[in-house]
Amino acid sequence: MMSLEYIHACRNATAYNFERGYTMQKEYLNKIAEYGQLIVVSGPSGVGKKTIIREYLKEHPNAVRCTSVTTRPQRPNEEDGVDYYFVSHEEFDQLIRSNQMLEWGYYRRNGYGTIRNAVEQLREKGHNVILDIDVVGAMKVRTVCPDATLVFLIPPSWEDLEVRIHKSNFIPKEEIADRLEIAKEEILCAEQYDYVLINDTVENTVRRLGQIIHGNRYSRNSMK
Ligand code: 5GP
Repeated sequence: MMSLEYIHACRNATAYNFERGYTMQKEYLNKIAEYGQLIVVSGPSGVGKKTIIREYLKEHPNAVRCTSVTTRPQRPNEEDGVDYYFVSHEEFDQLIRSNQMLEWGYYRRNGYGTIRNAVEQLREKGHNVILDIDVVGAMKVRTVCPDATLVFLIPPSWEDLEVRIHKSNFIPKEEIADRLEIAKEEILCAEQYDYVLINDTVENTVRRLGQIIHGNRYSRNSMK
């Protein structure tokens, strides 16, 4: 089985050769066509990432959201193994130490991370893999997977975000102020992303996300 590292090394090398006018390797071209894309979706808490991803997946059965690992407590509406893998801090540390995380970080003192193998296996099967991860995680993914497409969701206005987060049935009330503070910092990072999408309506945003993913299948911004 060909590892992600190999594919990325191959991609980087090929992009390098391409810049210098060499012909692209046939093996690389074959791989890139069959390998699933990696799409990172970030945005402030309450902006609607989970809804957009869920609706996108309904329309695109080939795409898969990769379930993250977290140490944060499970919410009543969440299912272990579906929304997250809920683990102890010890288990989380062990995953980091054993180098099983593609990326990981802390949000409100809880660990969140993406299991490398899960992403790798899904992409090898040709699935487009979507990661719902924070800004720090997204920047790490860009470093290790330079072909990833980074999409940042923003609300139509700050007031809109406040309304959405207060209306959420799932975000505990005592966390709202903290999450809004973090959101101010996160929004400043939007310009680091390949695309910034204003989440005005679910329908519009899902359609635009689809256009981005479809367009990137043939453009591959890793070639930049
Ligand atoms: P929540 O607690 O609201 O589910 O998630 C809090 C934040 O953690 C969100 O910004 C979400 O995108 C981010 N997050 C979820 N999974 C991961 C992950 O695997 N890695 C990183 N870096 N952030 C994650």
